[in-house]
Parts: sequence; structure tokens; C-alpha cells
Amino acid sequence: MSAAVRRFGLLVLGGGSGGLGCARRAAELGANAAVVEMGRMGGTCVNVGCVPKKIMYYAGTIAEALHDAKDYGFDVTVNKPFDWATIKRKRDAYITRLNGIYDSNLEKDNVEKIVGRAKFVDAKTVDVDGQLYTADHIVVATGGFPTMPQVPGIEHAINSDGFFELEELPKKSVVCGAGYIAIEMAGILNALGSDVTLCIRHEEFLRTFDPLVREVVMEEMTKAGVKILKNSCISSIEKTDGGLNAKFTIDKADEHVISGCDTVLMAIGRRPLTDIGLDKAGVKLTHKGHIAVDEWQQTSAANVYALGDVCGKFELTPVAIATGRKLAHRLFEPNPKSKQDFECIPTVVFSHPPTGTCGMTEDEAKDAFGADNIKIYKTRFTPMYHAMMERKTTTAMKLVCAGPEERVVGLHMVGLGCDEMLQGFGVAMKMGATKAQFDSCVAIHPTSSEELVTMR
Ligand SMILES: Cc1cc2nc3c(=O)[nH]c(=O)nc-3n(C[C@H](O)[C@H](O)[C@H](O)COP(=O)(O)OP(=O)(O)OC[C@H]3O[C@@H](n4cnc5c(N)ncnc54)[C@H](O)[C@@H]3O)c2cc1C
Repeated sequence: MSAAVRRFGLLVLGGGSGGLGCARRAAELGANAAVVEMGRMGGTCVNVGCVPKKIMYYAGTIAEALHDAKDYGFDVTVNKPFDWATIKRKRDAYITRLNGIYDSNLEKDNVEKIVGRAKFVDAKTVDVDGQLYTADHIVVATGGFPTMPQVPGIEHAINSDGFFELEELPKKSVVCGAGYIAIEMAGILNALGSDVTLCIRHEEFLRTFDPLVREVVMEEMTKAGVKILKNSCISSIEKTDGGLNAKFTIDKADEHVISGCDTVLMAIGRRPLTDIGLDKAGVKLTHKGHIAVDEWQQTSAANVYALGDVCGKFELTPVAIATGRKLAHRLFEPNPKSKQDFECIPTVVFSHPPTGTCGMTEDEAKDAFGADNIKIYKTRFTPMYHAMMERKTTTAMKLVCAGPEERVVGLHMVGLGCDEMLQGFGVAMKMGATKAQFDSCVAIHPTSSEELVTMR
């Protein structure tokens, strides 16, 4: 172990979305900052999350468009099956390029990159592979990892990280999970031509979303050919000469076997990465195992902060980045009032078609304001893109409005273009827009989004 302890103004553990957001902004504000990263720069989002996932989502939407093209008069003959190897090679190369860009951004911002695994020695000292570091402020942004159920044969299954390592499109796949990652990956595999069964533990998936989203996504996935096995719990996976046999218990009693699968993908949740000697630093965890922080990202140890997925609140890249930047402003501007506001965060599920949601579900609004103080506006239609088409998807939208002024406190939608539609409406909601103010904005025609300002 090196005797000399190196000192920084800010030491960030984890070079993912939140850690980089914090370190780079702190350096911009004059801090002597360093980031410790044990893997590839950019963390989950860049390497095994948002970015490669969105590329695969685009591949799926191209497959749909190729199918639709003939209804618009194109004679598109697809002579070869989809070439997974091409997209994987190009996607991996793009991500390697991004890793390099992240590295050079750190250099440009004068943030020191420390490669290795960080562990607390005490609240003020961190060990990275034998070298000790100390800092005025230490930020934990170590993210999380996918969990796997402990069932026989689980070594034959992959998780969401493994999805990005697949060398070819599985002909037959099983996806287990009811959260957005399971929905997105099942949708991508299905759109690209895999025979997909999505196995969920209850009757519904996306259970924290508004019922409109749950229902319409379920309908659309079923229509698109995904088989949904409800109330199913995986009990074992067996490897045979004919592929993988995934066994399920249905309704805690009956057994169901899906045989001859190429891939069994588990997307049943993520756990925080907290195996970094937090006890030595006196950093406490919540009952769910996340790092406990207050509204200022302060942990139970003085001058140790935590943010992003490791805290388990809105596990999204832009939330981690924004929280990191806000903390940097508080510590180094210094702006004592700078903290992240977790209200009304817009989020998208890249289902087929995509989902956009912001603010409260109908039930949450009823609990917060009372059922009598809530007014719901809903619409459901076939978007014009499908007007002359054999394949049709549905668009559905809901506004949840509260109080006599009908402030829009929830917006939920599924349909073509909803992913790109949401951001601007998120701004309006953040500003406290009312239904009348939505309606005062003249519609853009012909679009799906015009429905959001014309609902009655
Ligand atoms: C499949 C998938 C799809 C997703 N899609 C989206 C999406 O579309 N939109 C969206 O907003 N979010 C999405 N997310 C979530 C998003 O990726 C995370 O919310 C975000 O990356 C969290 O950032 P973070 O900084 O908290 O952690 P991370 O990005 O996970 O970064 C943590 C970093 O810390 C490093 N680390 C951990 N322990 C140590 C240690 N002891 N020493 C040194 N380094 C360490 C890790 O190697 C990692 O690089 C997706 C996630 C997944 C898995």
C-alpha cells in the first residue's frame, strides 16, 4: 500500500451518469475533482442501458416500418434475415467511441480519472487497489446491478447486461419481468422476429404506471405477437440438446414449461451496488438496501454524499445527472439552496408503441387531492400513420387534472411519437399548467399531440 495519501476537493466513486455529472460540474466550478471507475466510463446508461437499448429499439422500429412499407406503395423485398451481427458490431463500436468521448471530456474538464475498485477505509479515506485517497467531499455514485433469482439452472439465463452480449437474434426467447426493462427487451426481440414469451408474476406489468398505460401496452404487445404468461414464477431452467426448457409455476400451483428456447432473459429488478465498505465510513442503508440520504444527498456520514441508482429514487439517467450537478453547485459554487426536485419527472418506456408519462397516476391524484377534486380527460384513436395500413397500433392519452383550476398533475400516453411528445408537456406541467392553458395553445395538425390540447 502506498504511504502517501492523495488529496482532492471532491472524490466521486463511480463514473456513471450521476458521478460524471457531479465531478464535471464541480470541476467547472473550480473544484479539484477526481472520479474512480472500475469499469467502462459512462456507467450503466452508456454501456449496458439507455444507449445500446435505444439503438436496438430503433432496429425494432425499422423492422416494423419495413413491414408497413408496402401499404405506402413501396416494393421492399427483404432478401436476407435480419443481421444481428451487423447492428451489434456497429453498436459496440459506437459505445467504444462514446467511452473515449467520456474520457476526453474528463481530461478537458481537468477531472482526474482513477481506474480501479473503490472501498472506504474510513469516512474520510478511500482505497483504490492499494492507493489511498482523501477528499473534503466524497460522493458515492456506484449505481446498481441486475438481480437473478436463485433457481436451479439459472446459470443458463442472461440478464439485461447479457442481452447486449448476444451474438445473434434468439429464435425463441423467454423474458421474465414486469418492469420497463423487461417490456422494452421483449418488445425489441419480438419486433426483430424472435418468438417471445413474457413471463410476469402477477396479472399486470408496469404496475407503478397509470392503468391506461398498463392496459394499452398489454394490448399492443399481445397484438404484436408477444405471448404473455401471467401469474408465473420461474422455478428452473434446464439445458437440453433441443435448447433451454424454462419451467414456471402458475398461480403458485400448476407447472408450465416453455421448451426449446435459445435465450431466457431475467429482467426482474436491480440492486444497489453498496459493497464498498460503507460500514467503515458509517454510511447507513435504507431497509431496501439503498444508501439512505436526505433531500440534500447527505448520508449519515459527514461529508459523504450519495446519488443516482444507489439511492433507489427515480432510477433514470437524467435524474442522476441533474442530482449530481445540483450537489456540485451546492458544494462548490457554493449555492446552499441547490438540490434536486424529484416532483413531476417525465419518463418514457420504449415499448412498441412507446409510452410517455409524467406526474401522478389517477389513483395517486385521488389520494392526494380527493376523488371529488380530480377530473380525467381521456382519448383513444388510431394514429393517421396507420390510416391505410393493415397493421394498426392504438394511441391512448389521459390527463389527470386537480382542483377547480384543473391543474394538470398527471399525463399518461401510449402511442407512436409519445416518446418525443412528452418533454415539452413536462415543461408545462412543471410550470403548473392548467387544462385551460393546455387548450389555449393552438393545435398542430395533423399530429397525435394535438389531442393533448383539444381533449374535452
Ligand atoms: C437496460 C437498461 C435500460 C435503461 N434505459 C434507460 C433509459 O432509457 N432512460 C433512462 O433515463 N435510464 C435508463 N436506465 C437507467 C440508467 O441507466 C440509470 O438510472 C443510470 O445509469 C444511473 O446512473 P448512476 O450514476 O446512478 O449509476 P451507473 O450509471 O450505474 O454508474 C455507476 C458506476 O459506478 C461504477 N462502480 C460501482 N462500484 C464501484 C467501485 N467500488 N469502484 C469504482 N467504480 C464503481 C460502475 O462500474 C459504474 O460505471 C436503464 C438501465 C438499464 C439497465
